[in-house]
Amino acid sequence: MLRRVAEGVLIHQSEFLQSNAVVVQGRAGVLLIDPGVLGDEMAALANDLRELGQPVVAGFSTHPHWDHLLWHARLGAGPRYGTARCAATVRARLSDAGAKARVAGLIPPDIVEQVPLDLLGLITGLPAETARIPWDGPQVRIIEHQAHAPGHAALLIEEHGVLVAGDMLSDVFIPMLDLNAADPIEDYLAALRLLEGAAGDVDVLVPGHGSVGGADQVRARIEQDRAYVHALRDAGAPGDPRVGPSATFGKDWLPGVHERQLQHLEIRLRHKTTLPNS
Ligand SMILES: [Zn+2]
Repeated sequence: MLRRVAEGVLIHQSEFLQSNAVVVQGRAGVLLIDPGVLGDEMAALANDLRELGQPVVAGFSTHPHWDHLLWHARLGAGPRYGTARCAATVRARLSDAGAKARVAGLIPPDIVEQVPLDLLGLITGLPAETARIPWDGPQVRIIEHQAHAPGHAALLIEEHGVLVAGDMLSDVFIPMLDLNAADPIEDYLAALRLLEGAAGDVDVLVPGHGSVGGADQVRARIEQDRAYVHALRDAGAPGDPRVGPSATFGKDWLPGVHERQLQHLEIRLRHKTTLPNS
């Protein structure tokens, strides 16, 4: 069930929202990025890695959303990292007694029983401006940006030409903006520019959800996401195939996400323009 996408890099794709867990082979074991969603999938992943003689020596969560913060006891007790801002957001959102019940309320009812929340969000923030994940394996560059969530990080495994994009550059999801941010549109556009700067080094793109892409897909998806964000900004119809009726998630919730983003941004704009001159 592990699929090799580049030298030393394997992925497991979950049935849930095509979520990709990424395994990077190191010298004494593997780095596991966004481990997965369903308990039995994570347990099977742990077994596969054990059979390969590759214990998990470190983990990384690309951003502070529940589907990227899970863990399974069988994956072991290695350090789990995120950016400082990601970890601070997790602390702020998940440290109260009601947090797990709240998260359970965000999970689709048909799978909630299969998602183990006991080790949710136990991540260590790397000091701000940390350039690379501290571990014994190929260098993994942290490309932090504010777009989808606070402290979101894409990871570039330079020697294998792999970009792990977190919840950016998906072929099945439209850009989902951090609507709590001061300027979600400009943040997203800046993040796309940042990823564009790294695109020349990328042969394989692994999004948090959706299909793995080759080098040509990096720029194509950046362009597609930019066009969507421009359409949102200009309150235009996006004409984006990912929210069309034949898209993977085009039937129910993704068009709803689009509508909510559009409404949220329109409301903001109205507030801005009706402020008294000062
Ligand atoms: Zn996600």
